Amino acid sequence: MNDFDVIVVGAGPAGLLAAGRAAELGAKILILEKMRQEGRKLMLTGKGRCNITNNAEISEFIKNVYPKGRFLRTAFSNFFSKDIIELLEKYGVETVLSRGGRYFPASNKAADVLQALLKWVKGLNVEILCGHRVEKLLVENNVLQGVQANGQNFKTANVILATGGKSYPATGSNGDGYELARRVGHSIEKALPALVPLETEGGVAQKLQGLNLKNVRAAVWINNKKIAEEFGEMIFTHFGLSGPIILTLSRIVVKELHNKNRVEISIDLKPALDEQKLDKRLLRDLNEHGKKKIGNIFRYWLPATMVPVFTELLEIDPEKECHQISSNERKQILHLLKNLRFKVSHHRSFKEAIITAGGVPTNEISSKTMESKLLNGLYFAGEMIDLDAKTGGYNLQIAYSTGWLAGNMCNKKGEIG
Ligand SMILES: Cc1cc2nc3c(=O)[nH]c(=O)nc-3n(C[C@H](O)[C@H](O)[C@H](O)COP(=O)(O)OP(=O)(O)OC[C@H]3O[C@@H](n4cnc5c(N)ncnc54)[C@H](O)[C@@H]3O)c2cc1C
Repeated sequence: MNDFDVIVVGAGPAGLLAAGRAAELGAKILILEKMRQEGRKLMLTGKGRCNITNNAEISEFIKNVYPKGRFLRTAFSNFFSKDIIELLEKYGVETVLSRGGRYFPASNKAADVLQALLKWVKGLNVEILCGHRVEKLLVENNVLQGVQANGQNFKTANVILATGGKSYPATGSNGDGYELARRVGHSIEKALPALVPLETEGGVAQKLQGLNLKNVRAAVWINNKKIAEEFGEMIFTHFGLSGPIILTLSRIVVKELHNKNRVEISIDLKPALDEQKLDKRLLRDLNEHGKKKIGNIFRYWLPATMVPVFTELLEIDPEKECHQISSNERKQILHLLKNLRFKVSHHRSFKEAIITAGGVPTNEISSKTMESKLLNGLYFAGEMIDLDAKTGGYNLQIAYSTGWLAGNMCNKKGEIG
């Protein structure tokens, strides 16, 4: 006799969706959560505002998920952005659509999202035991028997692992789930930080710390070859580079750093002007202000805090008057405006990574049910699967959709309900 129809490990967004869906189908559910409270990471999302999801179409979502977004087609077809919005609104969370198709709670409080999900699952009689760390999956003769948490056995034939990745380990997601999966035969794609800030050499970024740039283009160069670029917003920090476009590019950067390649990031400060147009503009400004010092003219082209750093990098005497600037010096200015380069030395650790790349490989999981292809009754949901996406609400949607689909198995299993 099983204690529960399904045991869900982890009370993050994936685990809560899995539990809620399974309970809706009449199953008796237990969630085991190792932290003292549910949804610690969810509380931090979107700087405490929670970017709930995105209004992009399924095909667009799939393009923004790595390494194999199409694995999610069934999960997204069953439960997508409109469904989570509907569910949250039903439980009192009004949502607003913001720039870039991002949905936020109108209250701007991630806590409201968590409370709504908890209200939903608790209303369906899902039992939640916090402070219970699952140490072991109990398997006999390749048959799943239950889990062991805090030394105590809980019997079930169905376990949904929704333990998250390795990023922000203080929230409880420290890679436990990978070990649980590995011990029952799953391989684990090496977990690496993604959506993570980057450390740069040379001290230039550090001198610009706090400066936020909008409408710039950043490109990644591997061994001097450009391989990716992003347009948007970024910020300089005391260690290097961060902000949305840097985080998006970090996925490639981290991989290349681990492959021991030379990685550089270039920043185009004037992406709206090609070199020819920018050169014309520089020429015009230099002619118009021939008697002014070049150091003062930089202010026309750059944010004020960048001027001293720019002057230092150019090695042009800032006291020089504009009419004295040679065409060679003008080219140097142009080059720097289009191609401010940083050598990347490291990436920041899991402690600062918004998401984890790697995890249980998708080819070991059924995309139709989220069930393990190696052990009947074992299911996966959320960040512990080898899937990660760019910022914009995509990652949470992966958690809800895979969680919902895993919970939906209670539809089919004759013994449940
Ligand atoms: C700072 C930050 C901001 C973010 N902002 C956004 C955003 O605005 N929008 C967005 O889409 N995504 C955002 N993300 C990503 C998003 O939070 C994750 O994709 C999402 O939380 C993954 O959900 P999950 O349920 O798979 O894992 P988690 O949320 O990590 O939950 C896993 C749970 O499992 C528990 N657990 C782990 N091991 C065990 C064990 N052995 N036994 C019992 N319980 C265990 C953990 O304690 C945890 O509660 C952000 C991430 C961070 C770090």
